Amino acid sequence: MVRWILTICPVPIFHECQRCTACCRWPGQVRLAEAEIARLAQFRGQSEREFIEQATRLRPDRRGLALRDKPNGECIFLDGESCAVQPVKPQQCRDFPNLWNFPGFEQTCRAVPRLVSDEEYRRLVHAATGRDL
Ligand code: SF4
Ligand code: SF4
Repeated sequence: MVRWILTICPVPIFHECQRCTACCRWPGQVRLAEAEIARLAQFRGQSEREFIEQATRLRPDRRGLALRDKPNGECIFLDGESCAVQPVKPQQCRDFPNLWNFPGFEQTCRAVPRLVSDEEYRRLVHAATGRDL
């Protein structure tokens, strides 16, 4: 008897950000690595100390710093419909939604899902996040 084996090849899905800024308004925290603090401070023309005092807060787990929120809950760097630190925005922002997300994120995030080849997926993820897969 011949047995046919169905092989399912998962096709990568790349989520193309539409810059809707919903992820800059959600409650939560944007964690900062030390190197990111230095880059952000330089971009803002501040010393690291000034930047830390003005734009960061201690994370609830007390293991590092996160960006401050505005009183309305938006990220401190959301400027209208733009990110005021776009060229040096934290890696956590760059990685969403392709390298991390959460169940149901599609209900709010307007990123457009695209079926792509493995090679295209790696290229697009690198362009969006700076990471090599
Ligand atoms: S740093 Fe920029 S991209 Fe990240 S949450 Fe703040 S406004 Fe949004
Ligand atoms: S990642 Fe999603 S929620 Fe964030 S700006 Fe892009 S489309 Fe909007």
